[in-house]
Amino acid sequence: LKEAPMALTPTDPGWDDLVSIAPGPRMNATFVSLARNSDIWEIARSIRQVEDRFNRRYNYDWVFLNDKPFDATFKKVTTSLVSGTTHYGEIPKEHWSFPDFIDQDKAKKVREDMAERKIIYGDSVSYRHMCRFESGFFFRQPLMQNYEWYWRVEPSIELFCDIHYDPFRYMAENKKKYSFVLSLYEYVETIPTLWDSTKKFMKNHPEHIAEDNSMEFLSDDGGDTYNHCHFWSNFEVGNLNWLRSDAYVDFFESLDRDGGFFYERWGDAPVHSIAAGLLLNKDEIHFFNDIAYYHVPFTHCPTGEKTRIERHCHCNPKDNFDWKGYSCTSRYFELNGLEKPEGYENQQE
Ligand code: GDP
Ligand code: MN
Repeated sequence: LKEAPMALTPTDPGWDDLVSIAPGPRMNATFVSLARNSDIWEIARSIRQVEDRFNRRYNYDWVFLNDKPFDATFKKVTTSLVSGTTHYGEIPKEHWSFPDFIDQDKAKKVREDMAERKIIYGDSVSYRHMCRFESGFFFRQPLMQNYEWYWRVEPSIELFCDIHYDPFRYMAENKKKYSFVLSLYEYVETIPTLWDSTKKFMKNHPEHIAEDNSMEFLSDDGGDTYNHCHFWSNFEVGNLNWLRSDAYVDFFESLDRDGGFFYERWGDAPVHSIAAGLLLNKDEIHFFNDIAYYHVPFTHCPTGEKTRIERHCHCNPKDNFDWKGYSCTSRYFELNGLEKPEGYENQQE
């Protein structure tokens, strides 16, 4: 007994047995992060939290995507943090550049104009490539073809509660295709004609519009105008086969042709959200109340003290954005006939 060490270190035999592995099946699923080499320490923080709160018991894979080759440090650090297998993909030029039908001068003028008007990321070319890539291409990368489910993770996010079950399995067993934790109104300056393009698509492709869709989430006048509500896409757990379906790909290609990723600054969040709202039935979209999440500047902290205590949450319930005026989550609850969690009235401001 005198020889017994104070504590095992990670290189000692038996260390892995100290971490309990969740029983049950695994889904064909992966985490996915788009990142630059310079994002390493911010993505490392996110990974550590996802692992501590969930993945150390589930060991799902993690795919990293970049428009440039990942460097040795990025690969070494991320591989050491992820409990599943890591994969690194370089995005082909065609998925991260101007399509030939885009008028470069017109796009440049838009950026200069948006810079003057101080629109966030308005002058950025790379941000536009990023939004177009997340809208239309991440799910078609060769590494992603091996999976059916994805969970998107960005740098510098936080998870505030233990996740004691498998969200991928929840999605699969409940026939969900898309999910969110935060919703809000988009800056109208970034998407002035996105709804016109959407209406054009709806007219050309009525076969893709779901019967029991969530138009009420997106529009207050039966589809005439967009109310700018969207699910925040820096967190997503979703079905890749849905994104790879004719319905979604036709939607993306129709929007892409209209040029708004470059002539405006369409974000992948409104694009994914409009797609989910129109191409999916209501009951295929899920709100994860129990996944407590932060991405600057918004927090989703579960409503309901019981949940927060049981899951060892460390978020301040006052920070919860769900029921505040600028969130669209109330609207989502109302149109789906869901009962708001107990205590929501105390979090409205
Ligand atoms: P914000 O959340 O809208 O402020 O945008 P972020 O800066 O967080 O970017 C969104 C995601 O795209 C993050 O995962 C970033 O790491 C990633 N990203 C943004 N710009 C680039 C880029 O130029 N190259 C690569 N490889 N990733 C990028
Ligand atoms: Mn971000």
